[in-house]
Amino acid sequence: MAKILIVLYPDPITGYPPTYARTSIPQIDTYPTGATLPSPKDLGFTPGDLVGCVSGNLGLKDWLESAGHTVVITDDKEGADSVFERELHDADVVISQPFWPAYLTAERIAKAKNLQLVITAGIGSDHTDLNAANERGITVAEVTYSNSISVAEHTVMQVLVLVRDFVNQHQIAASGGWNIADAVERSYDLEGMRVGIFAAGRIGRAVIERLAPFGVRLSYTDRFRLPAEYEEKYNLTFHESIESLVTEVDVLTIHAPLTEQTRGLLNDELLATMPHGAYIVNPARGAIADRDAIVRALESGQLAGYAGDVWDPQPAPADHPWRTMPHNAMTTHTSGTSLSGQARYAAGTREILENWFDGSPIRPEYIIVEGGGYKGTGAHSYAEKPTKDNQGV
Ligand code: NDP
Repeated sequence: MAKILIVLYPDPITGYPPTYARTSIPQIDTYPTGATLPSPKDLGFTPGDLVGCVSGNLGLKDWLESAGHTVVITDDKEGADSVFERELHDADVVISQPFWPAYLTAERIAKAKNLQLVITAGIGSDHTDLNAANERGITVAEVTYSNSISVAEHTVMQVLVLVRDFVNQHQIAASGGWNIADAVERSYDLEGMRVGIFAAGRIGRAVIERLAPFGVRLSYTDRFRLPAEYEEKYNLTFHESIESLVTEVDVLTIHAPLTEQTRGLLNDELLATMPHGAYIVNPARGAIADRDAIVRALESGQLAGYAGDVWDPQPAPADHPWRTMPHNAMTTHTSGTSLSGQARYAAGTREILENWFDGSPIRPEYIIVEGGGYKGTGAHSYAEKPTKDNQGV
């Protein structure tokens, strides 16, 4: 029998379950590339339920406990006295989410003598030290594609929120005002703007496809160029590097994983080369941006706005400057954990566990590291020398 340590974000302050706005979520049959949705033998929850928090438990608790496993579910993940730190030493499986990541550092992995499987309930496994996992032969898996469209929709929303200056306008309305001039002095149409996509993977391409109808001029950079017919369909201009891309965009959106190549990429030097008054939306990872460089660029007017939902660290401290910097439309890390996204990543987590208990293979698209090396999606997304498969176009 295994010990499963599950770290999830805290329940709603108003209690669990919440009062849902809708009674169901739409049924999605396949992902846009034709990849299939998670197909566990059973679910353990009703799609549309809030399962990403502790009481929601990804719908796993009853199933795991009835099979005789020990299950520890907590939101307490920071510091030497945290439940996570105390329970990790004999856990066989750790599950957490990028929204409330249990940082599995090399030191923590060294302490977790029984650890065999780490699951990211969502996408993005940079909160696990993947090299340390490789050295120990630990399997790291995530639920690829589960919330890509959720994030793409959030990105499009934040692009519009920034360019139209929605936050200011809503605040005027909510506070009883009717100051039209104040409301529109920073408000523009997106139509005709140059939008650059940094990394055209699953999310980046979904953003391209959703922004194209707005009549924007699209460009992108990525390690591998997209097929010519795709570029043609969306009238895409390819740039060899981000340095080249950013000089010609009014809006830049970020969709690369956090790796040693992308950490701190949005720094003072790069931001200075963007057209004055550009906007950035970063729903990828907070550490891809230099925190203070973003603040400086907004204060000087070099950037007209910054939005996204990812911070470094998470949760961000109450005094994190991105909460109060001018012209920001930040959200907490929510884009990939809509109730719709949760249903998919909870089902994918269950599927991975079912495979692991059965000894059957986990889908390659879910694997990041396995058997001491980067495999499946990980071989493409996280390895230093990526393979050219898995493009999914
Ligand atoms: P994909 O793996 O489909 O796409 C990532 C893309 O980044 C790939 O096209 C890859 O290029 C490209 N890339 C990687 N490194 C570089 C680099 N150094 N320079 C240029 N391009 C690079 O991932 P997803 O689209 O599914 O997700 C992207 C990221 O979004 C995740 O890693 C995660 O951090 C974040 N995310 C955030 C969520 C949220 O809730 N805010 C939820 C889900 C994901 P190529 O394939 O051509 O090699």
